[in-house]
Amino acid sequence: MARFFFVVIFIVSTFFSFAHETDSLFVPPKPAKPLRYCSSAKQWVDYASHDSNLVEITYMRGLRMDLRYATFNNVTGHDMYCGIQRAFIHKDGLPKLKRALSIIAKELPGYSLVIFDAARPMYAQSVLKQSVAGTPYSHFVSSGKTGGLHNYGLALDLGIADSTGNLLDMGADFDSFERCAGFVGEADALKSGRLTQQQIDNRNLLRNIMKRAGWVMLSSEWWHFNAFTRAYTKEHYPLFPI
Ligand SMILES: [Zn+2]
Repeated sequence: MARFFFVVIFIVSTFFSFAHETDSLFVPPKPAKPLRYCSSAKQWVDYASHDSNLVEITYMRGLRMDLRYATFNNVTGHDMYCGIQRAFIHKDGLPKLKRALSIIAKELPGYSLVIFDAARPMYAQSVLKQSVAGTPYSHFVSSGKTGGLHNYGLALDLGIADSTGNLLDMGADFDSFERCAGFVGEADALKSGRLTQQQIDNRNLLRNIMKRAGWVMLSSEWWHFNAFTRAYTKEHYPLFPI
């Protein structure tokens, strides 16, 4: 019996120390040698342009590209897309993106969606996973082998900019591994003063548009939206081969 209680106490204390740790801002150490994944990025763009299920997200009213993985300004510290600001989406996700843009055009003229990432090749998923490997934040990033919905072309990372072009303040940067980065941590973060009500309202504005357009939000990241559930996607769509 004593052993049973010991195990329970161990599990509970591990859970709380884990939860506490992820409240803090985690910034992975900058790589000693930042890399540009140019040959992989070119292979990917070549693949994506020829996959008949993928559509390039080209100019659309109310849409702007800021692919953070095509710069060094991202959580990995590497330029994974070699500066190539070209994004792709599965053709079954495109109508939902168009729906979100038409809601903005009607209700928030002048505002725009800002794409941080869309369809993502497997090599980029692996680099992302390596940047958090061995930390308590590893669970935020899907495996480079089994992938997440970005690796099916059916997830978007995005923010929203106002009519002056400035991104709305969400209180936590894209890919910041804090509990308050998602819905799950917002009530506590508001209480502690880590987030303001305005920042939460800004997140809710984006969520409301995306939800009405048919997207499924992720409770741990304000910027991430799935076109379908993970289970449905895995059953009906193939993972990218590269
Ligand atoms: Zn995402």
